[in-house]
Amino acid sequence: MPRQNASSAIRRRGLMLVLSSPSGAGKSTIARNLLEDKEMDLVLSVSVTTRQRRPSEIEGVHYHFVSTREFERLRDSDALLEWAEVHGNFYATPREPVEAAMATGQDMLFDIDWQGTSQMKDKMRADIVSIFILPPSMRELKARLKRRAEDQESVIEMRLTNARVEIEHWRDYDFIIINDDLDRAYQEVRAIVTAERLRRDRRPGLFEFASGLLDETVA
Ligand code: ADP
Ligand code: 5GP
Repeated sequence: MPRQNASSAIRRRGLMLVLSSPSGAGKSTIARNLLEDKEMDLVLSVSVTTRQRRPSEIEGVHYHFVSTREFERLRDSDALLEWAEVHGNFYATPREPVEAAMATGQDMLFDIDWQGTSQMKDKMRADIVSIFILPPSMRELKARLKRRAEDQESVIEMRLTNARVEIEHWRDYDFIIINDDLDRAYQEVRAIVTAERLRRDRRPGLFEFASGLLDETVA
């Protein structure tokens, strides 16, 4: 094996990167940066939701928008890995794409709330890396929700109230990022992904690599 690229060639298990935050803290922005970053090589788990589509959202890219009846059908047929009611709507992670990605060692990104994170941790703790994003202040959180201008005033108020419940769960996460400066927050998330990929227990291929090193004869 050539020395250069030796590290990335070592066989590795896929990881599940979970991002949660109170609405407006910047989780979707950070998720978008991660997905556009070729070096990060992450694919998004596209959730199903009964929420109304926002003007900027695309069916099948940001969410699969479904009726409550369709949601219940999916839930009752065991097609969902986790589900939760958030801000008065249902959200869930479809099982099949996650199982397919994990089988090929593809890392996946999940933009889900604390309830979904808790259910996923119960099922697949070893594969999950969880990051919680906090706003620098509640005042700034409100300002960001207003600036995003994609929700009605009443929806913004409900999201602010619910933000406190979400924030109370910060301790359930492996890493906490305070999204004050977006560039710095993004670099911190990137550093976590890079380090987690290097964990010994995610790299079964290291056994083969290390025994190869020991077998190598140096002229
Ligand atoms: P979430 O997905 O957590 O609900 P968004 O990513 O939609 O939040 O961000 C909410 C708003 O705040 C967006 O308009 C986004 O551009 C803005 N934003 C995100 N991070 C920052 C930051 N560090 N500083 C200022 N504005 C930010
Ligand atoms: P939004 O309506 O702003 O897109 O999302 C509202 C909240 O629902 C966010 O906290 C988001 O992380 C969460 N969410 C989105 N998809 C899922 C999902 O599949 N499962 C769970 N449990 N939460 C989700």
